[in-house]
Parts: sequence; C-alpha cells; structure tokens
Amino acid sequence: MDLLEYQGKQFFAAYGIPVSPGEATGDVDEAVTIAERIGYPVVVKAQVHTGGRGKAGGVKLAETADECRTHAANILGLDIKGHVVKTIWIEQASDIAEEYYASFTLDRSAKKYLGMLSAEGGVEIEAVAESNPDAIAKIWIDPTEGLTDEACRAWVEAAKLNPQATNGAVDILLKLYRAYTEGDADLVEINPLILKPTGEVHALDAKVSLDGNAEFRHPGYEQYDATQPRDDREEAAHAKGLQYVGLEGTVGVIANGAGLAMSTVDVVNQVGGAPANFLDIGGGANADVMAGALEVINNDPEVKAILINIFGGITRGEEVANGILEATKRVEIDAPIVIRLDGTNAQEGRAILGPNLNDKLMMEDTMLSAARKAVELADA
Ligand code: GDP
Ligand code: MN
Repeated sequence: MDLLEYQGKQFFAAYGIPVSPGEATGDVDEAVTIAERIGYPVVVKAQVHTGGRGKAGGVKLAETADECRTHAANILGLDIKGHVVKTIWIEQASDIAEEYYASFTLDRSAKKYLGMLSAEGGVEIEAVAESNPDAIAKIWIDPTEGLTDEACRAWVEAAKLNPQATNGAVDILLKLYRAYTEGDADLVEINPLILKPTGEVHALDAKVSLDGNAEFRHPGYEQYDATQPRDDREEAAHAKGLQYVGLEGTVGVIANGAGLAMSTVDVVNQVGGAPANFLDIGGGANADVMAGALEVINNDPEVKAILINIFGGITRGEEVANGILEATKRVEIDAPIVIRLDGTNAQEGRAILGPNLNDKLMMEDTMLSAARKAVELADA
C-alpha cells in the first residue's frame, strides 16, 4: 500500500520523526482557511501516488492568502503523470540550508535491510546513483540484529553530511528504522531530509509503502487501503476480495494461485495475445468466488475472450467444474470462455463440463492450447 505524502508524514510523526505541521483538503477556500491557521509562508503540495511533484508544478510556496488561493486552484485538478490531484496538503514552509536523502528498503538478494543516505538530496536518487554513486552511503542491516546507535552514527559519518546535521540525522534515522520495521513497511524514504539554518534536521517529504499483508496487525492501516489508486475494475475486484491487477489487453485471465496466474499471463503473451488482467482466485475457490471473478472480468469492455486456467491441488476438479457452470448460470457472460482443467480430480471435472460445452464454453487439454484458443477467439 502506497501512502500519500501527508499520510506518510502522519506515519512518521507517530514514530517521533519531526515533520512540518499541516492539514489536507480538497477545497480552495478551505486551503486558505488552513493557511491562515498555520501562518504564512506555507507550501501547497499536491497529494498523488507519484513522485516528481515539484517539477510538475505540484509544490508551490505561498506568502499570502492570494497566492495560496491561486496555487490551490491551480494544483487541484492538475494531472501529474496520469494522477489527477484531488487532495492538497498545506504545510508551514521551512527554511532550507541543505537537502539530503534517506531511505530504508529490503535487499532481497542480501537478505538484509538496506539503508541509503546521501548528502545529495532533493533530486531523484536514481540520478545520483547514475552520476555519482559514491555520494550514496549504504548500510546493510541484519534484521535479527537491528540498527545500533554506533552503526547508525558511522553510517551518517560515511555520508559526509554537514557535521551540524549529524546528531539530528542519527536521531531521525533510528526512528525511521523503527518506523520501517515495526510499521511493516516495504519502503520508507525522506527526500529531502533537510538541515535548517537553525541546525535542526527535519523530514520535508515522505514516501512510504506498507506491506498490505500486515494490515491485520495495524488497525489504523484501513485508512491507507481506502485511498489506494484503483481503476473501476480493480475497485470491483477489491470489493470482492479478489487478487486482481488490471492490464491493457483483450484476454481475461482467471487462474488459481499467483504463480499459475502469472504463468497464464505469460503464456497469453507468448502466443501473441494480450492479457486484460491478472486474477488469482486462490486455493479452494468455490462457485461464489468463480462467479465473482467472471463478473469482474465480464464488466471489462475490452475483454473479448476469457481463459480459465485451473490446476487442482486442494481444490478438486469437480468443484471447479461445478463452480464454473454455476457461475455461468448466475452471470450472463458476453465473451467466450476457454477452460483448461488439470490436477486433482481433473477427469471428474472434465466429465461434468463435457455435456455443457458449446461455442461460448470450450475446453482444451493443455495450458498452451487453451491460451492459443483464447487468443484466437479474442482476435476474431
Ligand atoms: P517531490 O517533487 O514530489 O519530491 O516533492 P517534495 O516534497 O520533495 O518537494 C520538492 C522540492 O520543493 C523540495 O526538494 C524542496 O526544494 C522544495 N520545498 C518543499 N517544501 C519546501 C519548504 O517548506 N520550503 C522550501 N524552501 N522549499 C520547499
Ligand atoms: Mn521529494
């Protein structure tokens, strides 16, 4: 789950990281009211699930109510890399002496957490990594050992920040590490982390991605789930509890298990087609789940054929077959369906489907032939 900047700042604040006071709104008049309450100058910031807002005109300093009104009106509705701004965050403006970069993420190949810190912040870190990789100080942290005060201090020294910033940076990075681990985050990033002329270190931006699978142990995380960007198809699938990702093609895909669903997407591509989605109905899928899946796919006007690829494990073939028949009775499906059914009790399942096959419901023996058939139908 990707957080908006202001949500990320509230998340940081809960771990004691200093952020600027501010408030979110979707309304120009309210933006001015908030600014009056905070006191000028303020910064008006677009809240969208993408970076580079500054460059796109989504971050503006306002010294007066008039300026605040103008910026709020311009930024609301602005399209930033395909994300239309519906919410802005008004915060107290900060004086900046220096801009740094700090983040924690997971280095899967090292099986450790990776902390990155650079004195060259404010710009895209990818650009720094390209032009001046030595300017990024990296630290690999064993999750069972954690980040010690000493290791953190040595890391900050290696990054060659202004010595004035050392204590403040160490303090923030230890808190950021706690936020990253205890908060079940996949990524926490502060860019820029600033040194103020007064010597304080402060988080001026927040990029946070939380592990959605950990939502159950963080009651407050539902609010983040509610603001995830989803297209209409993804919203409908999410409401039904389906693992769905919308794609651009014409072949609707239903499979059981994420691995098989991904392979199915691949094989559709391999035979020259384009998948309309990724959809994993999981193990033990019943008729309800199958009907829900078919309904979501059927509502996608781009879908011209549907490929159902099931490899029975715990799920038995006859249940899948009955589920598909039940689902097609409940939902009027426009596109032809091609089924590949294998695994546990596949024979029984195929026997059930056999008498019901027609030019809207077809069966193929293999994943490859089923994909070919579905692509051929979609192209027809
Ligand atoms: P991003 O472009 O999406 O990464 O948005 P940021 O929140 O990082 O803002 C972009 C840039 O705007 C920062 O790197 C700063 O240079 C500038 N900026 C943001 N907030 C303030 C502020 O309070 N005071 C000043 N002087 N500049 C700011
Ligand atoms: Mn930034």
